Amino acid sequence: MSKTIAVIRGDGIGPEIMNATLRVLDELKVGLQYEFVEAGMAAQEHVGELLPSATLESIARHRVALKGPLTTPIGGGFSSLNVELRKRFDLYANVRPAITVPGTKARYEGIDLITVRENTEGAYGSDGQVLSEDGDMALSQIKVTRRGSERIVRYAFDLARRQGRKKVTVVHKANIMKTTSGLFLKVAREVAAQYPEIQCQEMIVDNTCMQLVMNPHQFDVIVTTNLFGDIISDLCAGLVGGLGLAPGANIGTEAAIFEAVHGSAPDIAGKGIANPCALLLAACQMLGHLGLEPQAERVRNAIRDVVGRKDRVTPDLGGTGNTDSFADALIDSLRADG
Ligand code: ATP
Ligand code: MG
Repeated sequence: MSKTIAVIRGDGIGPEIMNATLRVLDELKVGLQYEFVEAGMAAQEHVGELLPSATLESIARHRVALKGPLTTPIGGGFSSLNVELRKRFDLYANVRPAITVPGTKARYEGIDLITVRENTEGAYGSDGQVLSEDGDMALSQIKVTRRGSERIVRYAFDLARRQGRKKVTVVHKANIMKTTSGLFLKVAREVAAQYPEIQCQEMIVDNTCMQLVMNPHQFDVIVTTNLFGDIISDLCAGLVGGLGLAPGANIGTEAAIFEAVHGSAPDIAGKGIANPCALLLAACQMLGHLGLEPQAERVRNAIRDVVGRKDRVTPDLGGTGNTDSFADALIDSLRADG
C-alpha cells in the first residue's frame, strides 16, 4: 500500500508530538507518505494566513489529515480554526475513543468505548439571539434533521460492525425534548433495525452520565447529538485519565481529520516533555480508517506495554522520561513484538 496523507504539525507542542508520532508510524512500514502543510500560527508566520488554500487543497486531495493542535489568535478572523475545518469539509462525525492504559491514573481498568458525536447541528447550529432590549432574555434553537441523524447513527453502527463491537447506545432526551431529540431517536431506531447483529440500547442522557461513572464497562459505542456528545466525550476522557490519552477524529464524506483532543500546551512547548500518546492514538484511528486496524492495534498494544515504564515516559504520566524517550520505547516495543 502507498498512501499519502496531509500532515499539519501545528503550534506549541504540535511539532514535538507530531515528530514522535511519525517516528512510531514509520516503524509500522505500511507505506504511508506525508505531505507537510501548515495552519494556525505557523502558517500565519510563514505565509501570512491562518488557513492557507494550499492546506485546504492538500486535505481535499488526500482526504485524510493528521493534525497537531492549532492556536487560533484572537482577532484573526476565525473564532476557532478547528470549527472552521469542520465546516469547510462538513466533518459531521466527531469520534472519540476512550481506552484505559494500565499504569495511568484512570479510575477504572479495562474501559474501551467510543463516543460518536454529531458535529454539525443540534444545539450548536446557531449563535442564538438576544430577544429583549435590556439583553436579559436570550433564545437559541436546536436543529435536528433526518439526514443529519441518519448519517451519524449509520456511522456509529458501521464503526461497530467494522471493529466487531457488539452494542451501540443511542443517547437522547426524547422524554422532554420530544420534537428534536424525539426525531433523533426515531431515526436511530430505523437505522438500528438494519444492523440486527448489533445490540441497540437507548439511554436518556442524564442516566447515561451516572451509568458512565458507576459502570462504564457496559458501554461499547455511544452515539448522540452535538451537545450531549460534547459533554459525554469529555466525561469519558476523564474516566480514562485525562487529556494526555484522548484522541479524536472528525470525519466527513470528503475528508477526515485526526487529532489530539488537547490544545497546544504553550506552557510546556519547546521543552521536549509533551506526551505524544493522544496524537498517536489519533493516528491509530486514522490507520483504522485506512483499513489498517491490525496495525493500529499493534500501536495501542505498544502504548499499553510502555506506559508503565516510568523511566521512559513523560512527566504527565508520572514518568522521568521525555517525548523522545517515549517514542524510542514505543519503537522498541513494536520491534520486540515483531
Ligand atoms: P490551547 O490554548 O491550545 O488549548 P492550552 O494551554 O489550553 O492550549 P491544553 O492542551 O488545553 O492547552 O492543556 C491544558 C494543560 O494540560 C496544560 O497545562 C498542558 O501543559 C497540559 N497538556 C496538554 N497536552 C499535553 C500533552 N500532550 N502532554 C503533557 N501535558 C499536556
Ligand atoms: Mg485548551
